[in-house]
Amino acid sequence: MRTMCITLLPSIAAFAVSAAVAQELVKSRDGVAVGYKDTPILPWTKYHKHDPDRPLPPQVQPGRPSTQSDVGTAPSDAIVLFDGTDLNRWQPSTWQIENGELVVTEGNLESRQAFGDCQLHLEWQAPNPPRGPQMNRGNSGVYFMKRYEVQIFDSHTEKIYADGSAASIYGETPPLVNATRPPGRWQTYDIIFTAPRFKDGKLEKPARVTMLHNGVLVHLNTEIHGPCAWREIKPYEPHTALEPFVLQAHGNPVRFRNVWIRPLAPEKSAE
Ligand code: MG
Repeated sequence: MRTMCITLLPSIAAFAVSAAVAQELVKSRDGVAVGYKDTPILPWTKYHKHDPDRPLPPQVQPGRPSTQSDVGTAPSDAIVLFDGTDLNRWQPSTWQIENGELVVTEGNLESRQAFGDCQLHLEWQAPNPPRGPQMNRGNSGVYFMKRYEVQIFDSHTEKIYADGSAASIYGETPPLVNATRPPGRWQTYDIIFTAPRFKDGKLEKPARVTMLHNGVLVHLNTEIHGPCAWREIKPYEPHTALEPFVLQAHGNPVRFRNVWIRPLAPEKSAE
């Protein structure tokens, strides 16, 4: 967009002359950045357009992406929930670590720390060969705030109702596409979750999800209509702003690796 503006200006000669006077780049108060102070205030902020004093985004060292046989690493500012070594970030459970992979046993796995708005990355693998009843095959799930489930399921080989397939908002909204890999192969979920907001005991804003499954967009700002429920519709019930993150046990030894989360400050999400 900036390139287009610069390209267009010289073609409007009169405007270019008058605008040139006011186009002085100025330094920020801390002298680090340059920008403009003679521009309008962006109405949803306290900053000028192109304001040099608007805080620069913090620098983050990106992680190393995983490959099928090689585990990646998290970005430098992430909270690593599981890196293959221990379960210190989780409540006590019977879940097992095998060859650096987390294996579902019985009972959900709940994080010690509570989260609200966040970016989550995890990798999962359905058992190969598939085992157990159809509804259990590769079945696990990602529960944000203990309530809102993004489904994990072997949708490569098994077909159940659309709103129960892999990457669905369980019981509510199927993914845009089915990007599921075969069982026995690693799959990535990258999810941006916005927590619901409650005011005076009532829902003010619903939760929302944007998500990539194996790098493919499957949800774009999808609204979550209420807590996860099977065969019924449950309305929102007010809860605290931060709640633990949960991985689901559904009778199937799904595996996980490289699980990390980046909490997002609520004020940043609202900006
Ligand atoms: Mg599930």
